[in-house]
Amino acid sequence: MSADLLQGSCHCGAVKFEVRSPVTPAGRCNCSLCRRKGALMTPPFPASELKILSGEDSLTLYQFNTRVARHYFCKHCGIYPFHQTRKDPQLWRVNIGCLEGVDPYSLEAGVADGASLSVLEDA
Ligand SMILES: [Zn+2]
Repeated sequence: MSADLLQGSCHCGAVKFEVRSPVTPAGRCNCSLCRRKGALMTPPFPASELKILSGEDSLTLYQFNTRVARHYFCKHCGIYPFHQTRKDPQLWRVNIGCLEGVDPYSLEAGVADGASLSVLEDA
């Protein structure tokens, strides 16, 4: 598990970022949003390790359910590069498919039980 500085971007290239994070253990999540996206995510890392280099104004925010997690999408190409986690707003995860030089299909990945987390107890 190394924490290399990785370069990332959305598909159209409007959003560019760099992140210092290991890519394993990579994770998928079975919540209602993640199973539609199908993205493989890095482990959570501190907000300070993510730097948006360009295209911050191309990002659009999507929130649902408890509205704690912040899911960011490029409003031009629709690709989802990263999100702020619900468990801890100081922690972020990046979509491994957006990272240069990393093959998401070569990584072993578990599935997190976000579906259980996504139910609002008193809603
Ligand atoms: Zn884009």
